[in-house]
Amino acid sequence: MSVECETGFAQLALTQPLLRAVEEQGYQSPSPIQAQAIPALLEGRDLLGQAQTGTGKTAAFALPLLQGLETGVRRPQVLVLAPTRELAGQVCDAVKTYGKYLQGVRVLPIYGGAGYREQLQGLKQGAQVVVGTPGRILDHIQRGTLDLSGLKMLVLDEADEMLRMGFIDDVETILEKTPEQRQVVLFSATMPKEIRRVADNYLKDPVTVKIAAKTATAEGISQEYYFVPGPRKQEALTRIIEVEDFDAMIIFARTKQATAELADRLIAAGHAASALNGDMNQQLRERTVDRLKKGGLDIVVATDVAARGLDVSRISHVLNFDLPTDLESYVHRIGRTGRAGREGKAIALVSSKDKRLLRAIERHTRKTMTEATLPTQAQLAERREAAFKEKVAGVLASDEDLGFYTRLLTSIQRDHQLPAKDVGAALLAMIDADRQLQPQPEPPVKAPRGERNERPQARNGRGTERRESAPRERRVRDKGKDVDMVRYRIAVGRDHGVQPKHIVGAIANEAGMESRYIGHIKLHDDHSMVDLPDGMPKEIFQHLKRVRVCGHPLSIQKMGG
Ligand code: ADP
Ligand code: MG
Repeated sequence: MSVECETGFAQLALTQPLLRAVEEQGYQSPSPIQAQAIPALLEGRDLLGQAQTGTGKTAAFALPLLQGLETGVRRPQVLVLAPTRELAGQVCDAVKTYGKYLQGVRVLPIYGGAGYREQLQGLKQGAQVVVGTPGRILDHIQRGTLDLSGLKMLVLDEADEMLRMGFIDDVETILEKTPEQRQVVLFSATMPKEIRRVADNYLKDPVTVKIAAKTATAEGISQEYYFVPGPRKQEALTRIIEVEDFDAMIIFARTKQATAELADRLIAAGHAASALNGDMNQQLRERTVDRLKKGGLDIVVATDVAARGLDVSRISHVLNFDLPTDLESYVHRIGRTGRAGREGKAIALVSSKDKRLLRAIERHTRKTMTEATLPTQAQLAERREAAFKEKVAGVLASDEDLGFYTRLLTSIQRDHQLPAKDVGAALLAMIDADRQLQPQPEPPVKAPRGERNERPQARNGRGTERRESAPRERRVRDKGKDVDMVRYRIAVGRDHGVQPKHIVGAIANEAGMESRYIGHIKLHDDHSMVDLPDGMPKEIFQHLKRVRVCGHPLSIQKMGG
């Protein structure tokens, strides 16, 4: 055996099936909390552990609990309580993963939002490990469907968060219902006095493990901030997203409403984005996280609570649209990147009133954050141009047969008696219908709030302003006069490969409408919504029905009409 193994998991007196699973996960050595907690838990001690997210707490309790299971006994032996359904789900998956080489282990998630019938069935079939949220667990206990008489271990994961979410009474009630002789494990990122009190009351002579906050800010996460006045944050965000090389990004905003609005804007700008907040039901949230994991989404705009514990290794960037007011939340947020030893980047948008907070964060994480400057319009244009050229080069380098297009080009040239350069330029202008490639003027420093059409327009009135439109805004200002907007449904969407600019281009060209009159566009999978000025002439409407975007007819319909 190699020396590495000696300092690794093998030293922890774990059984072979568990070591095999851990090795398969690519873990080389136990994290500090694992190194301290695993031996204590294997000895049967109670444990009080304080460590931030991302320190490997799940394996710290999951491995010993698995080792202690009597797999022949088909009744609940271990109960894990977690604050949210997401976290309970993650723990459940982790326990299954670590226990995959043990025979006959049954792990059952129990939380609200999932079907009672399956839960009852799972309990009847004899799950040994039950993982759930306090409310639903208590529910089952009170109905007599969850038998805790054989319980050997109770794990309270993220206890401070359970406190914060108002579950502490439920947790205590559950503790009271467990057998006297059970082992109790309590993990918490912080140690408020209510948690301390629970620990004092229910843990017997616990081993205390505290991982210094210093290691909380995962190494390998670079941190930078942009100094941006509040009203310009939206625009700063779109620029940053355009220049950052990211795999997946999570954006944090303070309110649920802000997450929804930001997500809408990003979607309208053509990004695969979604909100993740407490207004979404359990299923939808799970689906969102799953899509992020699998690459169906690149950007998730979340609140702290909804993103807590989120473990998606694709997340290369965390962007704090607003800084959180408490320091622990900041640490949790940036801990969503740099997972599983990868590098991560944390970016913050900081306005003048946040400056003191920024310093406090620096002191807390014991790291300085570097100030970055926003890319200018010229730099953005340069980047777009480079990307565009690369695309063209890609086609030229491929073995695609361009014969048809060469002939077409020659024929156009002949018709107009023009050099290829001129025809080529016209074609490029057509492709760049919304003039994204051309450098755009810088917006004024003090952007008036909410007045989208006072932002600078792209040269020909088309442009990226679509990104700026407020989702619920139904009015556009026409040289000072307000114009009422009407919402239309069009039968093209993301599934057709459509982007907002295509829709703008088609409607602007076909309806002879200046693109600044085209309001908010919201893309869905198989259709989209677009706001257009009231009073559209009938002929234009009839014509628009037949207009095709990306090969599909718009089939435009007035909403509610
Ligand atoms: P916590 O519960 O403390 O937030 P997790 O248990 O969710 O942390 O683990 C965080 C991440 O670290 C997970 O992706 C997990 O797979 C990984 N991890 C856990 N233990 C180790 C280890 N010993 N070596 C490498 N990665 C690990
Ligand atoms: Mg955890």
